[in-house]
Amino acid sequence: MSETSDAFDLVVIGAGPGGYVCAIRAAQLGMRVACAEERETLGGTCLNIGCIPSKALLQSSENYSRVQHALAKHGITVGDVTFDLSQMMKRKDEVVSANVKGIEYLFRKNGVTWLKGRARIAGQGLVDVAGKLYQAKHIVLATGSESTPLPGIEIDEKTIVTSTGALSLERVPKQLVVVGGGYIGLELGSVWSRLGAAVTVVELQERLLPTMDAELAKQAERILARQGLKFRLNTKVLASERTNEGVALRIAPGNGGPEEEIRAEVVLVAVGRRPFTNGLGLAEAGVRLNAGGRVETDDQFRTNVPGIYAIGDLIRGPMLAHKAEEEGVAVAEILAGQAGHVNYNAIPGVVYTWPEIASVGKTEEELKAEGVDYAVGKFPFSANSRARTMGDLDGFVKILAERGTDRILGAHIIGPDAGTLIAELALAVEFDAAAEDLARTPHAHPSLNEAVKEAALAVANRAIHI
Ligand code: FAD
Ligand code: NAD
Repeated sequence: MSETSDAFDLVVIGAGPGGYVCAIRAAQLGMRVACAEERETLGGTCLNIGCIPSKALLQSSENYSRVQHALAKHGITVGDVTFDLSQMMKRKDEVVSANVKGIEYLFRKNGVTWLKGRARIAGQGLVDVAGKLYQAKHIVLATGSESTPLPGIEIDEKTIVTSTGALSLERVPKQLVVVGGGYIGLELGSVWSRLGAAVTVVELQERLLPTMDAELAKQAERILARQGLKFRLNTKVLASERTNEGVALRIAPGNGGPEEEIRAEVVLVAVGRRPFTNGLGLAEAGVRLNAGGRVETDDQFRTNVPGIYAIGDLIRGPMLAHKAEEEGVAVAEILAGQAGHVNYNAIPGVVYTWPEIASVGKTEEELKAEGVDYAVGKFPFSANSRARTMGDLDGFVKILAERGTDRILGAHIIGPDAGTLIAELALAVEFDAAAEDLARTPHAHPSLNEAVKEAALAVANRAIHI
């Protein structure tokens, strides 16, 4: 039997980007806030085993690749280039550690109480954390997600790994098979390919990155294939078997071709993530889930149970850290009586390969399906002077604008720093800007952003530099 303890205006369950941001914003707004987190450190999937460690390894491996392949053209000669994987991993861990400690500092600064341990809804306005009961006027569920398993493929995080294992391999595998050509497959596939693994990505669909614009995905496939990644699209993994050297996978092409066996020292399963609700007491509390197992919420983040809200990977929408953060802020403001709101159309998605792949708003496929009349403005980085000085000529900016109103409906970039460039387009979508607004905005020269301006000009067929 739990003993009753403190009372809070808000108890947030989960300290990932959704939960910790919600807790801080609610505390800023004057609420008495606690955040329950069972992990040893704050920051959730993103800071501990997601965004941050993956970007640290992407940066290290990209540096290594650039020294090997990009410096000679600049007239820079280096001797034998080697790398120390354990130092790379140590640096990654230090980056993670600094980030998660930063959240502890922010909790202290804002007076958020960290309730350490696993939390469970224990009744109306009650949360149990590690056997202790807390009263909560409001409860926000932010327990995030976990890797989706593949039937017949047993994860051991050594030979058959999820992203978590793939972020901590002790040596570079000779061959890495990645199941799933989405965000994780391409990012972590790139890391290990740059470090010397022969990487094959097996993807069920006929294309990579199924949620992104198809033209972007096609270009990504071409560029990454040139970097050495191999792709088996429209292919299904049927079974796996452990061998002395690693794993043998039986795969079948979707076009009815013959089954094949491929062997790998390590297999990374990256076929998506599913909401994490284990032990949260949702069924007992009567919280309704949708068909995909996500917690059902309305546009105010309310579940069907009064006083219980949910945000982040746990609810509908893209599983992205900044989406979770926006929802965390919005729900805190709603609880404080303000008008919290998230513009889902303006949430960018970025794949941090090199070149980066970034999107915001509608894809061409979505606009076609919705019967929207749109114009396309495209501009290649090969015609951008800054990209030329950098020697990064791959990719393009593509802007989709509604015919008649000229309103920007979507933008898709593959190219150098696409993840930074997309911010201008997210702002354009947020402000309901027309392509002409961007086209008439002065952009510094020479800058990569000029490719955005030129794509906006190209919507009305008046690009200057192509
Ligand atoms: P989470 O971050 O998953 O946090 C939930 C927290 O709740 C966890 O710490 C968990 O321990 C805790 N918890 C769960 N149940 C309980 C309980 N009952 N009691 C107490 N605590 C509990 N997104 C991006 O935008 N950019 C990226 O570059 C990016 N890279 C990624 C790379 C990888 C390898 C992965 C796996 C994900 C990546 N993501 C990225 C996605 C991003 O990590 C998630 O969208 C984000 O973390 C979701 O935030 P959240 O707050 O909803 O949940
Ligand atoms: P994903 O949804 O991005 O990609 C999964 C891929 O696996 C899809 O292409 C899908 O068609 C394919 N797939 C599904 N079942 C399959 C099967 N049986 N065999 C082969 N392929 C199969 O998911 P992910 O890469 O696992 O990443 C999970 C989520 O984490 C992402 O959707 C994203 O929201 C988030 N994430 C974001 C970033 C970022 O923002 N840079 C990075 C990593 C992860």
